[in-house]
Amino acid sequence: MAKELKGIAASDGIAIAKAYLLVEPDLSYEKTEVTDVESEVKRFESALEVSRKELSMIREKAAKDLGEDKAQIFDAHLLVLNDPELTGPIEESIKNAKTNAETALQETTDMFIGMFESMDNEYMRERAADIKDVRKRVLSHLLGVTIPNPALIDEEVVVVAADLTPSDTAQLNRNFVKGFVTDIGGRTSHSAIMARSLEIPAVVGTKEVTASVAKNDIVIIDGLEGNVIIHPTEEQIAHYEKIKSDFALQQAEWDKLKNEKTVSKDGVHVELAANIGTPNDLEGVISNGGEAVGLYRTEFLYMGRDNFPTEEEQFEAYKAVVSGMDGKSVVVRTLDIGGDKTLPYLELPEEMNPFLGFRAIRLCFANEELFRTQLRALLRASVYGNLKIMFPMIATVNEFRQARDILLDEKAKLKAAGTEVSDSIELGIMIEIPAAAVLADQFAKEVDFFSIGTNDLIQYTMAADRMNERVSYLYQPYNPSILRLVKMVIDASHKEGKWTGMCGEMAGDQTAVPLLLGLGLDEFSMSASSILKSRSLIKRLDQSEMVKLAEEALNKSTAEEVVELVEKYTAE
Ligand code: PEP
Ligand code: MG
Repeated sequence: MAKELKGIAASDGIAIAKAYLLVEPDLSYEKTEVTDVESEVKRFESALEVSRKELSMIREKAAKDLGEDKAQIFDAHLLVLNDPELTGPIEESIKNAKTNAETALQETTDMFIGMFESMDNEYMRERAADIKDVRKRVLSHLLGVTIPNPALIDEEVVVVAADLTPSDTAQLNRNFVKGFVTDIGGRTSHSAIMARSLEIPAVVGTKEVTASVAKNDIVIIDGLEGNVIIHPTEEQIAHYEKIKSDFALQQAEWDKLKNEKTVSKDGVHVELAANIGTPNDLEGVISNGGEAVGLYRTEFLYMGRDNFPTEEEQFEAYKAVVSGMDGKSVVVRTLDIGGDKTLPYLELPEEMNPFLGFRAIRLCFANEELFRTQLRALLRASVYGNLKIMFPMIATVNEFRQARDILLDEKAKLKAAGTEVSDSIELGIMIEIPAAAVLADQFAKEVDFFSIGTNDLIQYTMAADRMNERVSYLYQPYNPSILRLVKMVIDASHKEGKWTGMCGEMAGDQTAVPLLLGLGLDEFSMSASSILKSRSLIKRLDQSEMVKLAEEALNKSTAEEVVELVEKYTAE
């Protein structure tokens, strides 16, 4: 029988395919005594053999799809599997203690892991992590369960997961992964943001999809409305096929606006820019008619690898983006790690509130060399196009000054060494902390531009975690309190002859667009897939009328009243 779930619509479109469960397998077992130790040793050896074959296959595929450097992690795993100093004691333990292979594997590896983890040597600690990975694989074969691996998907599926980390999402191949659905998360969690840049339909925060779906079940994901249907009926499939083809027709209509400027009915031009995570995303920016890159989240360059990218690697990536945009504006944000974005090779302290903790610019100040390396790469890339640099999570004017001074110091050093650097790089900050929004008039005297990061600004203003579906009812972009902050920022920048953009997800939200146009926002930066529909909407709106609409909205008391006010402008 069909089962329907409601979640949060995270990325437009309809997907209908069988389910691929990306869930942690159950690896529990009982400790038992064995009588036939020889056959238990054989069982262990054959689990090793299957693991070896599997790892070699994954290694080969990773080398082909992701590059030789990414594949090398699997070499380390193969070395562990083939190390007699590890496998020997496990076999000895089976023979001497007469325990089952699972227990011998666990107890022996625990000993090695404990030993390596206690060493004051990063290389040895990484070996401990390799042993844990390999143990999990061998254990899965002893128990006959499968460890899912998104990089190995080679048929059309929808991915079902409790949550997807940004690095899981980065491994999804959109030729095969037709959509995804998760138990937890919100519209602005980074997996949802990445789904939009991959242009695959997604629904997040369904609470119970992993408990409701079995491997290979047919699932419909409706990323337009946030619906998920498991075991759909023939009628439901036909209904959603129709929505899918209507959506494709609608997209073809929007496509006609690809080479047009974004001008309101009464002739006001605003810039529609795109948010990107990697140089590969440029293709989507261009095919969706993006007029600029309003946010390049550079932290993705640091993810899915096991060491920091070098200055040279970063330079190549920044140069590719800046020159790929051919003179159009590219706003690059410096590293924003922390919160839901972690790096496997950077140990961060356990924190009670990671989103209020050691992240972004705070982490860069504490690791100044890391920050300086990135700034040098950016400065060197600045001569290849129209680069703008912005700092994330700025709370105080002093933080901006400190970041700017480090940048100017690196610039002076590069120039002294004869390296060419552009002299017209605009410097801006993200406005994502309420303190910065409230003090925007002071910031505006020192920065060249603002970019409002509503994903964080809303969570900090409403005190409602952007990742937590239980408080998602409080995550209200249209609450007049948020609109007032946005207005303060825009007005403050204009008073000083500066400009304001918005790179939070709100900028591409169709209900927000009329309000933002009325509030005088200069640049809207969004997932590339939202650009054309936003252009189509803005072309139907009179900016002067939207100024009045925004004024009215600012004087409402609830988000619901604001939505009611805007509705007549967003209807197609
Ligand atoms: C934001 O906070 O609005 C933003 C764009 O940054 P991120 O989503 O990467 O935190
Ligand atoms: Mg942010």
